[in-house]
Amino acid sequence: MVRKGGCQCGQIRFEIVGELGQASICHCRMCQKAYGNFFAPLVSIKAGTLKWTKAEPSRFESSNFVRRGFCEKCGTPLTYESPESTSISISAFDHPENIEPIIQYGVEARLSYLGNLKDWPEHRTSDFFEEAPYLKNMASFQHPDED
Ligand SMILES: [Zn+2]
Ligand SMILES: [Zn+2]
Repeated sequence: MVRKGGCQCGQIRFEIVGELGQASICHCRMCQKAYGNFFAPLVSIKAGTLKWTKAEPSRFESSNFVRRGFCEKCGTPLTYESPESTSISISAFDHPENIEPIIQYGVEARLSYLGNLKDWPEHRTSDFFEEAPYLKNMASFQHPDED
């Protein structure tokens, strides 16, 4: 089995052959910052299964043990690399819907309002076509979810 993915602009693409490791979300403060988000969705990979098929990510050393890979052109967070394993951002895969997290880490920093998610009003993008007509004619510059 080959799974593919990459950054938003498409400058960085990857392929992973074979089984993935554990899928998780991490709420720690460093993951919040690195993703500009409430948590980081990550799946660990087995050694030797990852191939960067175009450019390689740039890295930021977020600590003395961990490097975080990202696209320096579009900013997409891509990897979490520790001495014991490498993980890839689940949302960077072309088909993230098939990689369901089964565990949460860093819960000491979890934002308490995340528990209210199911209570927040829901909208489809098309709900705003009338008040924001540009949405209807938007041309995406995002790399498609395929090569
Ligand atoms: Zn990019
Ligand atoms: Zn974390």
